[in-house]
Amino acid sequence: MTGQGLASSNDACVPDAEGLDTVLWEQLPESVAFCAADGVCLYVNPALERGFGRPRGELLGRLLWDVFPESLKPQLQERFLRVAATGESAEFEWHFAPRERWFVKRLFRSHGRVYVISREITGEKKQEAILRGLYDETRRAQRHAAFLAQASEVLASSLEHDEILQRLTNLAVPPLADGCCVDVPMLDGRVRRVAMAHIRPEVVARTRVFHERHPLRLDDAAGIGKVLRTGVTEFVSELRPEHVSQLARDADHGLAMSELGVTAYISVPLMTRGQVLGALTLVNTTPGRRYTQADVRLAEDLARRAASSLDNGRLYTEAQEAVRARDSFLSVASHELNTPLTSLTLNVQALRKQLEPWHDSGVPGADSTTAKVVAVQRQLSRLSSLVRELLDVSRITAGRLRLEREDLDLAALTREMVPRFAEELARAGCALRLEASEPAPGHWDRLRVEQVLQNLLSNAIKYGRGRPIDVRVGADETRAWLSVTDEGVGIAPEAQHRLFQRFERLASERHYGGLGLGLWIVKQIVDAMDGRILVRSAPGKGSTFTVELPRPPRG
Ligand code: ADP
Repeated sequence: MTGQGLASSNDACVPDAEGLDTVLWEQLPESVAFCAADGVCLYVNPALERGFGRPRGELLGRLLWDVFPESLKPQLQERFLRVAATGESAEFEWHFAPRERWFVKRLFRSHGRVYVISREITGEKKQEAILRGLYDETRRAQRHAAFLAQASEVLASSLEHDEILQRLTNLAVPPLADGCCVDVPMLDGRVRRVAMAHIRPEVVARTRVFHERHPLRLDDAAGIGKVLRTGVTEFVSELRPEHVSQLARDADHGLAMSELGVTAYISVPLMTRGQVLGALTLVNTTPGRRYTQADVRLAEDLARRAASSLDNGRLYTEAQEAVRARDSFLSVASHELNTPLTSLTLNVQALRKQLEPWHDSGVPGADSTTAKVVAVQRQLSRLSSLVRELLDVSRITAGRLRLEREDLDLAALTREMVPRFAEELARAGCALRLEASEPAPGHWDRLRVEQVLQNLLSNAIKYGRGRPIDVRVGADETRAWLSVTDEGVGIAPEAQHRLFQRFERLASERHYGGLGLGLWIVKQIVDAMDGRILVRSAPGKGSTFTVELPRPPRG
């Protein structure tokens, strides 16, 4: 059937095609044409008329490929003739670029005619492109995240500055670039290349030769020198001749640069605290391999991490040097102070001895002179113990804490030591209760154990002024312990973990003297004897320091 279904179209143009159901074609949303075997159009449906915006009359009787745009013509003609000759169907996609539209064309032969059906797939194509974009974006984000994780590992390693940067450039090639390098500025305006990698090692050598002939300079108008000077990223997604001439200082330089074959680059500054430490540069030498903004973001992220790692490394080295300088100063100073102090102490002792016969003699001024000498002796003893602490710090830091172990009863030693503090306790208004009746034998260093007790007791007197102090000694099968409890100022829970650090002072410096070394030394001694020190304290309620020592000693 024919005529009826075509009532709304131009009947004259619809051929009465031997039993072919053109009504069906009339209603199809796809455009349909059929032609004679030589390509002459016999029929086009309304969808095709609409597509061309031209009536059938203008299309029928013409060669089919002549009515389509030039870009489609050759392949349509070629396929059409093949289908007409062989009877084999064909299908292909056509992109109509000026309007960003896509079509799929299907050709088949029937009843000596060739049918061409065209369906627009622009919507599907766009969706596909979006999905592909999303997919690519996700893949890229995943790749970038994986790369940054690897890079962070390298950056966190305890390697030397240049070694870290070399590893980083090796890591960037090839995932991010064909070549990668890091350059640092020098004070004299020159630039030092600290690391370089390329997928083809011979390019590294070639680039070196190039830079020997044409060294990078901080006053370069563009490129790495400029990035180092300004701290601003430079990004060329596709290096064209005009870029090369902008970068080149002269024709020879430009030529040599072109020979390196760079097709795109990103150069990002390694910045920290407003200072440019260097520049990380990614280059592509593969034609067609371009950079995008996403690559720039990644390079900048990488540079940020690298800069902060380098900065940390530098700060760490500086801090270590400062600590070394401080320790060596302390060591020298404490030795220098100790020598005259020892002879001063001996002289004051001798002086006091000489004054003894005058004491209570009634000689005018004798008593007050003795009192002054006693005061000098007390101050000297305080000074000596501060200098001893400093000496201990330098010894311990230098790993020279040697223990002289002997059989010792901790209870007896404590009983013997406590009376030596009588004067200090009395001055501070502290009553001392001692519980050390049971023996607590072990094998420890006498002088060091004395030092521990002395430090804990001095602190209890200092921070528990006017309140009673309890000293307890006990032992069981495996350990002996000594605890010193005061009812003084106490220590806030959040500060307790800092107590045993070197130079740590928690109490107000105005009210309490001290170097913040006593507890650190105590802990070093206790650790050296395989023991441990515990603290229980509450602000305003007082503190208990307990030292536990193993018995017999391990090992
Ligand atoms: P310092 O010579 O400053 O006393 P220490 O290492 O002996 O140094 O002690 C470190 C800090 O711990 C002190 O500055 C003080 O704040 C706190 N501290 C030590 N012992 C006590 C205590 N018995 N009661 C309260 N605070 C204490």
